Amino acid sequence: MQVPFLSFQPQHVPIREEVLAAVARVYDSYWYVLGEEVKQFEADYSAFSGAKHTIGVANGLDALVLALRALEIGPGDEVIVPSNTYIATWLAVTQVGATPVGVEPDPATSNLDPALIAAALTPRTRAIMPVHLYGQACRMTEIMALAAAHNLHVVEDNAQAQGATFDGRVTGSFGILNGTSFYPGKNLGALGDAGAITTNDSALDQRVRVLRNYGSQQKYYNEVVGYNSRLDELQAAVLRTKLTHLAGWTAQRREVAALYDRHLAGIAGLRLPHTAPGATHVYHLYVVHHAQREAVQQHLASQGIGTLIHYPVPAHRQQAYAALGLPAGTFPIAEELAATCLSLPMWPGMTEDHVAAVAAALRSFAN
Ligand SMILES: *Cc1c(COP(=O)(O)O)cnc(C)c1O
Repeated sequence: MQVPFLSFQPQHVPIREEVLAAVARVYDSYWYVLGEEVKQFEADYSAFSGAKHTIGVANGLDALVLALRALEIGPGDEVIVPSNTYIATWLAVTQVGATPVGVEPDPATSNLDPALIAAALTPRTRAIMPVHLYGQACRMTEIMALAAAHNLHVVEDNAQAQGATFDGRVTGSFGILNGTSFYPGKNLGALGDAGAITTNDSALDQRVRVLRNYGSQQKYYNEVVGYNSRLDELQAAVLRTKLTHLAGWTAQRREVAALYDRHLAGIAGLRLPHTAPGATHVYHLYVVHHAQREAVQQHLASQGIGTLIHYPVPAHRQQAYAALGLPAGTFPIAEELAATCLSLPMWPGMTEDHVAAVAAALRSFAN
């Protein structure tokens, strides 16, 4: 049995007519940028995320950049980022001219370890950017308390965790400003690039709205050096439709994860995902760890099973960050996780047969 890493088909086939009607609505509206669809999606996403305001932007990286710009974080400032994350988190800090300062994860969850943040703070630290990696909420209660004690902003990178919670509160509603991504493969995916910022602060909401649209409130009058980073009407209309199905898809992801937990139990050398007390997980990815990761991945490929690695090279070891001068061994936990992680197929609509096929292939590697 072939099991692709990701298949959109089970999600997209049943809602084809619904989505195409939304597309037609935009086509026939003769209004394509910053109109009714964006406004409605922003309202719907606010209701979903529990944050007062949502600002649609062009992609997830821009969401993080605009959040930092709105907080006037820039040259000379430091921002705490996980050593173990997608590079976008680091890039956002770099793009506003500030310096990313890595903090190691808890190896059990792969998420930022709140206990290690204090040692990385300096007088220049302005913000902490927790990333709810793979779909599991970070330990936000400790992170928020630490940030308050040191007068730091929190900007959540919620690109992978729409709908996850910590101590009952939805991710993307803790930080002063939070970024998320609707890249097609994310839990809520557009048909192209899209992203959003969520906030409870009305003044910052206004500031981000100005920044995303050329630094302008009134057309052709520019208050600040802004960006062209708008969510377009077509993507907003698609996202509005897909958002109504997100809770169902998340429930399916959780069912698949529970099946994996059951089918993969007891396989020698394989470490399964662990969810921290107080956290919930929306399984953007189901990530296992194995000391012979490359060989396991090849074995699975030979059995028709698609896997990916999130991520093979930590940000501090990327060529792009050579100038930071952070040699191998700087973040040993992130480096170890990068060397051993393997993302198994995960998509709403996967069946127990798919999961059993992945498990059988993993078991046959072990034997
Ligand atoms: C996808 C992702 C981003 C960036 O989103 P884009 O829409 O691709 O720009 C940022 N952070 C994390 C953790 C992501 O997974």
